[in-house]
Amino acid sequence: MAISSFHPPVRTLMGPGPSDVNPRILEAMSRPTIGHLDPAFVGMMEETKALLQYAFQTENKLTMPVSAPGSAGMEMCFVNLVEPGEKVIVCQNGVFGMRMKENVERCGATPIMIEEDWGKPVSPAKLEETLQANPDASVVAFVHAETSTGAISDAETLVKLAHQYDCLAIVDAVTSLAGSPLKVDEWEIDAIYSGTQKCVSCTPGISPVSFSERAINKIQNRKTKVQSWFLDLNLVMGYWGSNAQRSYHHTAPINSLYGFHEALVILQEEGLENSWERHATNHNALKAGVEAMGLSFFVDEAYRLPQLNAVTIPEGVDEAAVRSTLLNSYNLEIGAGLGSMAGKIWRIGLMGFASNETNVLNCLGALDAVLSEMGADIRSGKAVSAAKAAYSE
Ligand SMILES: *Cc1c(COP(=O)(O)O)cnc(C)c1O
Repeated sequence: MAISSFHPPVRTLMGPGPSDVNPRILEAMSRPTIGHLDPAFVGMMEETKALLQYAFQTENKLTMPVSAPGSAGMEMCFVNLVEPGEKVIVCQNGVFGMRMKENVERCGATPIMIEEDWGKPVSPAKLEETLQANPDASVVAFVHAETSTGAISDAETLVKLAHQYDCLAIVDAVTSLAGSPLKVDEWEIDAIYSGTQKCVSCTPGISPVSFSERAINKIQNRKTKVQSWFLDLNLVMGYWGSNAQRSYHHTAPINSLYGFHEALVILQEEGLENSWERHATNHNALKAGVEAMGLSFFVDEAYRLPQLNAVTIPEGVDEAAVRSTLLNSYNLEIGAGLGSMAGKIWRIGLMGFASNETNVLNCLGALDAVLSEMGADIRSGKAVSAAKAAYSE
């Protein structure tokens, strides 16, 4: 049988990631592949680092894209900053904190867990208590924007506490970067990783990371070798570092990096603050529509993410059937609940390029129609006009 070329359906991506990719990025990715040590490519790498410093609001020299998805950025932070025998405080308020614990254990270190109810932010008071009880802890790790629940934590306060007790802070900013205020230098974050496919709206497969001088100092003074060859920053710096010899480490995903460069150029054109504001505006309109329909949000307004809307499912509704009708009849993807939230919430992403008025109105209209057809207990026909009203406020 002759298998022919793959042509994906055209969807609107309003789940927890990937988000809709700006056509400018796809066009950039189709440009000719050149060698990864070609001076033209190296010049683009330098620009990418500078654009990324802007996106992260940092002057950290060690700011770069890792050639692998967000999970690899997570692993890079842990394997480099955690040595066997250390104690790491992991604040868990959703799925991604669980993965941090797993990383700590695989580094041969001991995780000290702070567990928070899902949907709540990490509690600074609990962190301080745990830091006091564990004076030998060396690292604190937490997720800034929990994509599994839609809650944001106060990163600045948590990092400050970590430093008061001589700990370095590792922050997961996969979903927050470009969607919510994030200031790496001002908040003194030591190690941060993100992803490209959430609010930066690039294709998946790259993880931007940044490390402070404090973090680099610890990495350079490790007693043991980093157990991962691929993610060992001492080696990666030889390729991406500012005074690097550009020695061969691995072949960079050349065309993906063209796309990421373009995504960051787009972010720079819009302006970071404007991007944060756009995410907030579209969230407010979606919220007006969702509430007009009679549905509610899982997370309290005070710490609700604008880019990830966890919406409660009305009584008796087959939530998977709703999602498949949205996908098949409306070409619209929304997310299911993850982990213990499965069956309890939908996750409607308004990330990056997908965070726009058309998507908000289309999503509300489609959800309203599908739920009404199913006979769900909602107020039909109100959502779209409520969202429109929110835009014109
Ligand atoms: C998506 C996500 C990740 C993982 O990123 P991948 O690119 O899927 O590996 C990690 N942390 C958070 C908070 C995320 O939302």
